[in-house]
Amino acid sequence: MPKRAPRRAPEVSIGVDLGGTGIRFARVTVDGDVIGRPGVVPVVDRRKAAVLGQLRRAVVEACSGSQAVEAVGIGVPGFIRRDRGVIVRSPNFPDWRNVPVRQILQRDVAVPLVIENDANAAALGEDWIGAGQGGRGILVMLTLGTGVGGGLVSDGRLITGRDGMAGEIGHQTVDPSGPPCTCGNTGCLETYASYTGLVANYRRRTGSSEDELSGLELAARARRGDAEAQLVFADMGWALGVTLANLINLLNPSRIVLGGGLSGAWPLFIRRAMQEIDRRAIRAAARGVLIRRAKLGTAAGMIGAARAAWQAVTGTGHTGAVSRLGRRVRPTMRAAS
Ligand SMILES: [Zn+2]
Repeated sequence: MPKRAPRRAPEVSIGVDLGGTGIRFARVTVDGDVIGRPGVVPVVDRRKAAVLGQLRRAVVEACSGSQAVEAVGIGVPGFIRRDRGVIVRSPNFPDWRNVPVRQILQRDVAVPLVIENDANAAALGEDWIGAGQGGRGILVMLTLGTGVGGGLVSDGRLITGRDGMAGEIGHQTVDPSGPPCTCGNTGCLETYASYTGLVANYRRRTGSSEDELSGLELAARARRGDAEAQLVFADMGWALGVTLANLINLLNPSRIVLGGGLSGAWPLFIRRAMQEIDRRAIRAAARGVLIRRAKLGTAAGMIGAARAAWQAVTGTGHTGAVSRLGRRVRPTMRAAS
């Protein structure tokens, strides 16, 4: 009987999602197959040293499987310097300032390690094997949760802009005289279409001073027929529709994917959003765009981080002005003086 060649374990990249309450990680093949069960490490202590310790343990554990690990990608909340692997600032971890995460973790990891913003990672994940799978052209992803995250993907590659700041869709102005936003602006999408914004707007309308009022509770009230709760969700739909119409006119996307916990309240806002898109977007651009709920749920971030890791290895990453080696690409065109 001929000897069978030993089956080689597939090569994987590790995708890690650093969240405010837990760290998720998975081993993902170059085709997007998740190998084995994803891991979760809870984040209890949010101080820097504690979180970095947990992150290190998660990465080491993820790398310890029988597969050959090619690269590690980590999705993190907040503003990052991708070229240096630094978290500049994070709303989830207030004491973090310019933390060189890549440098710290690289001591334990022998393969390339990339840091990506979590909303960008989620966009990459949904584009790759989620709600946007198989599509070409531009995908716009919004993560509707405590805040509003955004990510833009063009033909599989992230659009990052010069400093990696492109796609901050949550801070697009919807109403210049609207409510104050955490970013310092007023009337951002986030002030209408996040749990935080919904609760603030409900309080403003009703004068409610309930301490424990959550976004989930508001959604439950709207479903039970609370007219004020329904109105703040209608305002969310309006703000979302205005923003998406602007994005449709600006980018002519093929796919718009809405994820995050708040996308579960879909029936409470989507009709109003579609009305606004109908009213404002250029018809020819709006006609072909698919607007879908995200498919990967809380796995989107880690799968997208794994995608970013694969792209770093194969040199097919983002479309920003910073090359993957971290060098500034010389601009080829300047405004005439
Ligand atoms: Zn803002």
